[in-house]
Amino acid sequence: MHCPFCRHEDTRVIDSRTADDGSAIRRRRQCPECGRRFSTLETSSLSVVKRSGVVEPFSREKVVSGVRKACQGRPVSDDDLALLAQQVEEAVRASGAAQIDSQEVGLAILGPLRELDEVAYLRFASVYSAFSSLEDFEAAIRTLREAEAARAQGASATVGDDQGAGTGPVR
Ligand SMILES: [Zn+2]
Repeated sequence: MHCPFCRHEDTRVIDSRTADDGSAIRRRRQCPECGRRFSTLETSSLSVVKRSGVVEPFSREKVVSGVRKACQGRPVSDDDLALLAQQVEEAVRASGAAQIDSQEVGLAILGPLRELDEVAYLRFASVYSAFSSLEDFEAAIRTLREAEAARAQGASATVGDDQGAGTGPVR
């Protein structure tokens, strides 16, 4: 690729390393003409088609900001949200498609968010799935209860799994 400083048409890679837990490669490049250095970040392309039809690159920040509101007042930290966004990205990239609907992103958020915080999950799901009645909430809560019962019956109780009684989020 060409040099962003002097537009020389060739640059040399002087260092490559994986970034972002392996989902990207960062390359240090140097221009043989002007000697200046810059980095490039290489990721597999993934675009999101919004309901309006606008296409934009997938962004973990957008996932975080979409979920953050539902997590208000809940014991969910920025690290939790970053991890959730990573899980969502892994899930949608696993489909192999280069372009996905924003709805699929929302769908991929539901699973990890349910694991993270049930109240935040209900809030997010109520908006995302457009809950329109008490029955919708009841059905969602029933599903949560069933999952909880299945978990309790299954593996021995996980230490630190009780997130219900937490205080405010760490900001
Ligand atoms: Zn240059």
